[in-house]
Amino acid sequence: MGSISILLVGKVLPYLEQELDKRYNLFRAIDPSQRAAVLRDHASSIRAVVASSSGGPDAALIEALPKLEIVSSFSVGVDRIDLQKCKEKGVRVTNTPDVLTDEVADLTIGLILAVLRRICECDRYVRSGNWKKGDYKLTTKFSGKTLGILGLGRIGAAVAKRAEGFDCSICYYSRNEKPDSKYKYYPSVVELASNCDVLVVACPLTPETHHIINREVINALGPKGVLINIGRGKHVDEPELVSALLEGRLGGAGLDVFEKEPHVPEELFGLENVVLLPHVGSATVETRTAMADLVLDNLEAHFLGKPLLTPLV
Ligand code: NAP
Repeated sequence: MGSISILLVGKVLPYLEQELDKRYNLFRAIDPSQRAAVLRDHASSIRAVVASSSGGPDAALIEALPKLEIVSSFSVGVDRIDLQKCKEKGVRVTNTPDVLTDEVADLTIGLILAVLRRICECDRYVRSGNWKKGDYKLTTKFSGKTLGILGLGRIGAAVAKRAEGFDCSICYYSRNEKPDSKYKYYPSVVELASNCDVLVVACPLTPETHHIINREVINALGPKGVLINIGRGKHVDEPELVSALLEGRLGGAGLDVFEKEPHVPEELFGLENVVLLPHVGSATVETRTAMADLVLDNLEAHFLGKPLLTPLV
């Protein structure tokens, strides 16, 4: 397959980049400024694009690659890929569902505990020597709380399953009520937020879910409520979130994703009720390696004319 040309447009695990380099004729345009040169010299030969949560092909790039057959994403979220254009052009798309579900769900529970029990703040308390001056103040219990899940899909359901172990009451909002689910369904995000203690955002980023967490939802969650975002940064109206936290209209937040990564609103840095993570939901050696292998296996299946492992389009 060494003669097949592939274009890498998102940041991926070094192992994946090395394997792509070994197996294919690999070009890189991770920085959009590299695009023009690669396209000028190689647009007519590129048959596959490898994307990730940090970068994917937009309509212009898909149009510029006349031989493009497949986009394989090193992520489950495909918000960086113009799926409509892929459909129009008959370009196949694969992503990495399931292999990262447990990892992201584990981290979600970690974030909830970190915010409610102030784990990071307690760690800073010990390291700064403040413990010698007095005990840390009391925090908030997680067990038995009501957990609201926005998007009861693979990750949302895995979070719910874990929260059952904490005796939580679980409720959710998705576009469709899940007939087989034992959890309570609310027909809007505002109703979900009004009726839970902790709200976890676990839906895909689409035009409908952009800023789905707005001022009304944040106010419905209220001064004792906690927002956990492990979906995408653009689900949340970030300036609204920052002002709600600064004004005490929201009880706390655990955020793995941000609107303009890697830029995080600095107003959040001094808040003890906020835990900030650098988009690491799936970032373990085991899971990122499994994601990389799935990208490689999907590409190989495509080029050998076999069924794709995780086709999306
Ligand atoms: P999934 O199985 O497709 O689940 C998505 C859920 O969202 C479904 O239950 C879907 O149900 C619901 N949904 C879709 N559109 C909606 C809308 N407009 N309003 C409300 N709910 C909506 O996806 P997944 O594997 O769980 O992954 C979810 C997302 O997590 C990904 O798309 C990705 O952006 C994010 N993620 C983040 C990280 C990280 O590192 N932080 C890692 C992996 C994934 P209905 O169709 O019934 O609405």
